[in-house]
Amino acid sequence: MTDSNFSTYLHRNQQFAETGAKDKVPAIPFIPFNQLYLITCIDPRVEPAAIVGAQLGEAIISRNIGGRVTPSVIRDMAWICHLHETKTPDADWFEVAIIHHTDCGSALFADPELRRGNAARGGYDEQTAADMAVLDPHATVQEDVKRLRQAPELAGGIDRFKVGGYAYDLRTGLITTVVPAA
Ligand SMILES: [Zn+2]
Repeated sequence: MTDSNFSTYLHRNQQFAETGAKDKVPAIPFIPFNQLYLITCIDPRVEPAAIVGAQLGEAIISRNIGGRVTPSVIRDMAWICHLHETKTPDADWFEVAIIHHTDCGSALFADPELRRGNAARGGYDEQTAADMAVLDPHATVQEDVKRLRQAPELAGGIDRFKVGGYAYDLRTGLITTVVPAA
């Protein structure tokens, strides 16, 4: 046994493999059971398996700092749209749920000194970082729903899938609908 933090997870993985759950997954990976495409923050406190009970195979889950709709998120989704259109044109389209949360670490991007230091080490440039700060999840999730709906890369697909925006409150553990899925 190695002295790795991951050892525990290798052990849990062996237990998982024995349950047979690995066989209860979608036949086509880009068509998850509940046709849900979830975008949320990398913060360990907003783990989708815990806060919305997302089970294996139910959703495509995209996580980044803040759960923001970045060019990278849009490119991933464009690929999924393309697969839908070319490989499974008759399948149901997915619904996108964007969840931003209170007390998000991305709010530190609002600090110019941190932004400058991060840019100097080759991280996000200062403007990109400033735009990623989630200071008010109710406001930023509305911006990101709009950004997704207007993304030219998703044209053709966007009028076929629903997009909803949500805010998760770390204090209450509750999610509020900010932009109803439409
Ligand atoms: Zn966060």
